Amino acid sequence: MIARVEPLTTARALRGPFDYLAPEGAEVGSILRVPFGRQELTGVVVGLAETTDVPREKLVAPKRVLDQSVPAELVGLAAWVADEYCSTTARGLALVTPPGGPAAKPVFWAELRRAPTEADRLTDRQRALLDDLARTGARAAGNDLASLRRLERKGLVSITQRARRHSVSHDAVGARTKAPPPLTGEQEAVLTEIEAAIADPAPKPLLLQGVTGSGKTEVYLRAAAAALKTGRTAIILVPEIALTPQIVTRFADRFGDTVAVLHSKLTAAERRDEWHRLRTGEARVCVGPRSAVFAPLEDVGLIVVDEEHDPSYKHEGDPRYDARRVAAKRALDAGALLLCGSATPRPESYRALRRLRLTRRVDGQHPPPVRTIDMRGTDAALHPDTVDALAASKKSIVLLNRRGWSNFLDCRTCGHAWMCPNCDVALVLHRGGGYLACHHCGHRERVPQHCTECGSMSVARHGAGTERLEHDLAQLGLPAFRLDADVRDPGGALRAFEQAERGVLVGTQMVAKGHDFPDVTLAVVVDADATLRFPDFRAEERTFALVAQLAGRAGRGEAGGKVLVQTLAPDAPSIAAAARHDADGFLAGELARREALRYPPFATLIKCVCSAEEPAPAMAAAQALAERLRAEGIPGDVLGPAPLFRLRERDRAQLIVKARDRRPAVRAAGAAVAAVAGDKAHKGVNFSVDVDPQ
Ligand code: ADP
Ligand code: ZN
Ligand code: ZN
Repeated sequence: MIARVEPLTTARALRGPFDYLAPEGAEVGSILRVPFGRQELTGVVVGLAETTDVPREKLVAPKRVLDQSVPAELVGLAAWVADEYCSTTARGLALVTPPGGPAAKPVFWAELRRAPTEADRLTDRQRALLDDLARTGARAAGNDLASLRRLERKGLVSITQRARRHSVSHDAVGARTKAPPPLTGEQEAVLTEIEAAIADPAPKPLLLQGVTGSGKTEVYLRAAAAALKTGRTAIILVPEIALTPQIVTRFADRFGDTVAVLHSKLTAAERRDEWHRLRTGEARVCVGPRSAVFAPLEDVGLIVVDEEHDPSYKHEGDPRYDARRVAAKRALDAGALLLCGSATPRPESYRALRRLRLTRRVDGQHPPPVRTIDMRGTDAALHPDTVDALAASKKSIVLLNRRGWSNFLDCRTCGHAWMCPNCDVALVLHRGGGYLACHHCGHRERVPQHCTECGSMSVARHGAGTERLEHDLAQLGLPAFRLDADVRDPGGALRAFEQAERGVLVGTQMVAKGHDFPDVTLAVVVDADATLRFPDFRAEERTFALVAQLAGRAGRGEAGGKVLVQTLAPDAPSIAAAARHDADGFLAGELARREALRYPPFATLIKCVCSAEEPAPAMAAAQALAERLRAEGIPGDVLGPAPLFRLRERDRAQLIVKARDRRPAVRAAGAAVAAVAGDKAHKGVNFSVDVDPQ
């Protein structure tokens, strides 16, 4: 028997699979150490074969088989991802192999079994330990493990091993598996359809379109329960988990230890533990952000994509996968139901998926009225009406999608502007930290006291970011709580706001994500058209989602609420539709526009970026790439090349392929890049291919 092994290496040039003698018990997904030239590499068995072209005498056996493996279906998925996103199989496999790092140390818990008697003849130390246990009931053994073991032998205490030191909410063991609330009529109707789909061996994917607060999460919980009941497993994808612990907690409360959570804040050891709990079947529901789509579960019956419009589902490193697309593929292969949910679905999903609707909020409240405030001709960050409304509201949320104090500085005397030395962008002032920062490469420098060009002391600050707004609100006497990527403890900021009597939560789009504060009565979007100014065909979609999602955060409680949208473009379709709470109208218009312009979902976009230390070689490589693609006659248009702004000390040029036919275009782009990158004329140029760029 021959094992076809893909070595796990990031080198693009080294592509397997390579054939080895199959060791006893090797399967697709087995992880091996194999000799490779003079080195030894880790590899994954991607196939088994009867024959090979490798001559007998050259065929060698792996050094050893690791006691870990990847489910066979994930090996196939990894290969698909590599192919779909112009990457290598090894990089695809890196997404599905067990995380490295040390295994978690087991934690031992001691519990009192009976009170000691005279006959036990205890030392003072042992007596103290027992007194301690009598008070607390149970405790982690820690450094007292040896002493506690002696007490265990006397039958005084019992010691159990817990593999995990951590879990999201399993600490409250008594509180777990809360009884579910009875469903509303709408939820009932939707769930009936979902349960039928889960029972179907080849279900069609569904889109759960429901306004915020309509009980979508409760539907996901019931759907997961239905999948478990048929003996299968479930994956729940959520955006950016650090900010949305509520949904994780709800799953943990409902399913207890059956849930494993995979997210980026876990330590290496915790991550490994969770992975193995899923792999061994101890945990059968996985909740996590985009990478959880690769959870090592077998027999998946349901994959939920919550807030399916969220851009964080797209991965920005190689392979540049989109977890929503991977989820669809995995569900299709497994015969599992793909259930996407959102109040503001993407036009792509709206068009392609069968829709289930939740039209009413569980609490019976109507969505809050939205008023647009025309900011043309105003210089202030906040309109006087906004200031009045904030002063009148006990708790408010203010969204401004810009971090820092002001977005650029220039010299009033000579006009010198402070730019990033590595990128062609302005530096942003962070006053609290006392530095200027580039939001693209992370470069920082001290705040200038005078102009570096002419020595003038007169430096002007332009534009306002969240830090400035926080300060302005405080000046107005409003307790402000800031939430953005500069805040060290976002969870802490959210808790502080939640517990405050009155206050304003001010921040970037982070404030619009899934939080449930019943006492917020006012939501404000400052500069709603900031996202519209991006030269991106998704600008309208993003803006609509942002305004609608923020509106969903207000008026969740008894007191009701309202939303103010400050904008320079009150007539933009996204803003006007969001103000009317008209998702269907917006989506219909947006789909018509995209069809006319042939944008996704009516075409596939592939972005190729060439970068180099100088502008000329980057542009030359992009030009060569464009010529090659045009010569191939791919089904679609090749737009560009066009220069992109300098980033991280590299000049860039980009090319967009707008393809009618996805597969051949992705193939052609991959082949063209491989050919041009292999040409010595373009040495020193880096290439990246992004299918479905965001
Ligand atoms: P969504 O995910 O659509 O925003 P949620 O599932 O979070 O909505 O529901 C909003 C609120 O209503 C939550 O506090 C949830 O616990 C509650 N809820 C959901 N379904 C029901 C129900 N059938 N009965 C009572 N409360 C419910
Ligand atoms: Zn100057
Ligand atoms: Zn920079």
